[in-house]
Amino acid sequence: MLRINLAEAKEKPGEVIQYHFTTLMPPLEGVGERISFTEPAVVDVRVTSMGTVFWVEGTIKTAVMLTCSRCLKQFVYPLQTAFSDKYRFGAVRANTPQPDADTTLVAGENLDLTDKVKESILLALPMKALCDKACKGLCPQCGQDLNKGECTCRREASDPRLAVLARLLENDEQKEVT
Ligand SMILES: [Zn+2]
Ligand SMILES: [Zn+2]
Repeated sequence: MLRINLAEAKEKPGEVIQYHFTTLMPPLEGVGERISFTEPAVVDVRVTSMGTVFWVEGTIKTAVMLTCSRCLKQFVYPLQTAFSDKYRFGAVRANTPQPDADTTLVAGENLDLTDKVKESILLALPMKALCDKACKGLCPQCGQDLNKGECTCRREASDPRLAVLARLLENDEQKEVT
């Protein structure tokens, strides 16, 4: 699906050829939790041809569903990232070393960018998923979602700034009810 045919670029050294993909990616596996996409990935690719060597630059825009590490709520995480790589035509042989380390060999004329796009998305994911920078998480004692309001558990050494915030939120909620 994210495949580029380099035949055209090969015949036009010095030219830039653009590609546009809109594709719903399958869920990402093997990263702890299974991460699913909430919208198709929009991938724009620019191929700059230098004859047998190609400079491939891409931008990716999509959104994934993540679980907040503090309150365990699922939330949509919009994501934007980019990649760039150098490719060279040539068969990959076990005994011949690559011409240079930063160039990837392409066998045939088709370049499949699926793995590259997947890898770039994985690298763009946050180390710690948070539904909001100010997420207050769950009460360690009763499990109440503290974003929805304070519980009755007494927490010692709580941050006074957070307490003020919590009170403000409580007032807001009461206003909504009345
Ligand atoms: Zn949260
Ligand atoms: Zn509690």
